Amino acid sequence: MVGATDISCVFCGAVEESVDHLFVSCDWISPIWYRVSRWLGIEYVPPNSIMQVFESFFGLGVGSRVQLGLILVWHAVVWTIWTSRNDMIFVGKSSTVDDLMDMVKLSSWKWFIGKNPDSPCSLYEWENPDSPCSLYEWEVQPILCWSSKTR
Ligand SMILES: [Zn+2]
Repeated sequence: MVGATDISCVFCGAVEESVDHLFVSCDWISPIWYRVSRWLGIEYVPPNSIMQVFESFFGLGVGSRVQLGLILVWHAVVWTIWTSRNDMIFVGKSSTVDDLMDMVKLSSWKWFIGKNPDSPCSLYEWENPDSPCSLYEWEVQPILCWSSKTR
C-alpha cells in the first residue's frame, strides 16, 4: 500500500522518488529507454537524467523530421511513465515493461497522425496495413513514417 507519507518510488519501492529516478535510473524503468533506442534504431547510451535523454534525442537529426519524431517519442515515453505511475498510485494498476512499450508506440503513433494530418498516413490509410504509416509500420520502423514525404 502506498500511504500519504510514502515517498518511495512506486515502481521499485527501493529509492525515494525523484524525477531522474522515476523517469530514467529506476531499475524497473531503465529497460524502457533501452528498448525505445532499439525500436528507433539509435545508439543506446545509459542515461543519467531525463534531460540527458532529451538532449541526446534532440541532438540527432537536427532540424529534420527525424528530430521532430524523436522528440515526439521522448514525450510519449515520459507521458507513458507518468501515466503508469499515477495508475499505480491511484488505481493500484500495475503494468509490465511490455505494456509500457505498447503504450509508447500507440500514443506516439496517434500523436504523429494528429500532428501530420497531411502526411501519407491520412485517415483512410490508418486502416490500410500496406500504408507507409499504419500502426504496424510504426511499430516496426517509425523512422520510415516520419521521414516519408508529405503529398
Ligand atoms: Zn524506482
